[in-house]
Amino acid sequence: MQEIKVGNLQVAIFADKKAILSEMYSRLSSNLATAAVAVNPEKVLSALSSHDVAHVLNQCDIRYADGIGVVKVLQHKSGMKLQRIPGCELWESLMKEAGIRNTPVFLLGATEDVLTKTRRKLVAEYETPIAGYHNGFFQGTAEMIQKIKDSGAQIVTVALGSPKQELFIFECKKAGIKAIFMGVGGTYDVYTGNVKRAPKMFCKFGLEWFYRLCNQPSRIIRQLKLLSFVWLAVTNKL
Ligand code: UDP
Repeated sequence: MQEIKVGNLQVAIFADKKAILSEMYSRLSSNLATAAVAVNPEKVLSALSSHDVAHVLNQCDIRYADGIGVVKVLQHKSGMKLQRIPGCELWESLMKEAGIRNTPVFLLGATEDVLTKTRRKLVAEYETPIAGYHNGFFQGTAEMIQKIKDSGAQIVTVALGSPKQELFIFECKKAGIKAIFMGVGGTYDVYTGNVKRAPKMFCKFGLEWFYRLCNQPSRIIRQLKLLSFVWLAVTNKL
């Protein structure tokens, strides 16, 4: 797995979603726990400003490039033409693969309503075997980890927002669960139509962030921070 540094995160280079899925399943068959995390400009910036965030993200086993800004920096540094791998698309492919291979899945995170719609849709669409589930508003990390362990899940997808979800995954790995873990942010909301994804044209031109800003103006503060990512990128400081 080739990796390139962006800020202080090592980001892996994968040709496409299939290559990541194959790496995940090969680690699963070797009985290795795998934490996969999507790296976007927001995560690069928080890793630069917090040693703890950088540590948690660098402890993950697969860091792939989501977010057009990160892809551009990787392309510039590697000289290769690379594609962006949106976390929500990778998650859906993994859920489909789980249906084909009959791999038990635990779904954690989001509101009860979104979670119920997510598992119903997954079963209807891909026959994903759901071994367990819980909404993202719980007390007691240790109890939740035990519940996941008892479910026998081999894939655990965690939608708690970042870095909460990565910290939770870190704890699951420490507790010895040998599964494929994916931190998926707002993916269940997008999958169930609770939050709309940008139309294909926006994605094609790398303007998904702009579409999200227009739809959720409250993201402005989060997105203004991204200007510093652009500045660091154009001045070759990443
Ligand atoms: N969430 C949760 N528990 C929490 C905080 C957030 O389950 O304590 C869920 C929330 O309902 C949403 C997701 O986590 O489904 C976070 O989405 P966000 O858009 O913040 O994540 P991003 O995709 O931007 O990382």
